[in-house]
Amino acid sequence: MRMRKKKHRDARLAACAGLYFGSGFKLPAFLEIGCGKGGFICATAQANPELNYVAVERNPDVMLLAMEKAASLGLNNIRFLIADAENLAGYFAPGEVSGIYLNFSDPWHKNCHAHKRLTHKNYLDIYKNIMAPQAKLIIKTDNRPFFDFSLRSLEANNFRIISRTCDLYSCADCPADNVQTEYEQKFIAEGVKICRVEALAGGGVLDVP
Ligand code: SAH
Repeated sequence: MRMRKKKHRDARLAACAGLYFGSGFKLPAFLEIGCGKGGFICATAQANPELNYVAVERNPDVMLLAMEKAASLGLNNIRFLIADAENLAGYFAPGEVSGIYLNFSDPWHKNCHAHKRLTHKNYLDIYKNIMAPQAKLIIKTDNRPFFDFSLRSLEANNFRIISRTCDLYSCADCPADNVQTEYEQKFIAEGVKICRVEALAGGGVLDVP
């Protein structure tokens, strides 16, 4: 997400400093990596006050908007981590992550940039190390090549796909509690189909009724 440096950014971030992720926050937590303006993670945290959430984003200018959103909603079950996903192991111990959301991640369409995709093996290995055994990775994207790459990468790296669709809104499995992200709203308005996949990190067991 390209965004100019926000006016008074550092002072505005300092005003939200109580929302930075730190050692006082109760884990385990669900993560969104690349939360952008934070609409999804704030609405999800608001709907699930008994669960904990950490929003991860490497761009401080966009993170500022997410933090101000959480502050205005008075949420206390969410914290914000301005960091690159490649450094997650420095913040979370094995098992401390209950689930990971990747929403409309940058597709990096050139093959020479495949290693930058958030579903590349390098990232999946990082996620696997911090995810609890039953934790799910849930991905939404408008980008079919990125989706197909992600499905192959999940399968090649021992994630077990438990549901997937290339047209979320025409699919009977569309979760009733689906929360739209800012990008998702834009793509839906343009008539673009949304792809979604849910996968368990390796070794996970399906709950069979
Ligand atoms: N999830 C939001 C924003 C999607 S845009 C939505 O759906 O509306 C993708 C976001 O991921 C951008 O804000 C970008 O800065 C962030 N991002 C990309 N690579 C990242 C990385 N390696 N670590 C953390 N954030 C990343």
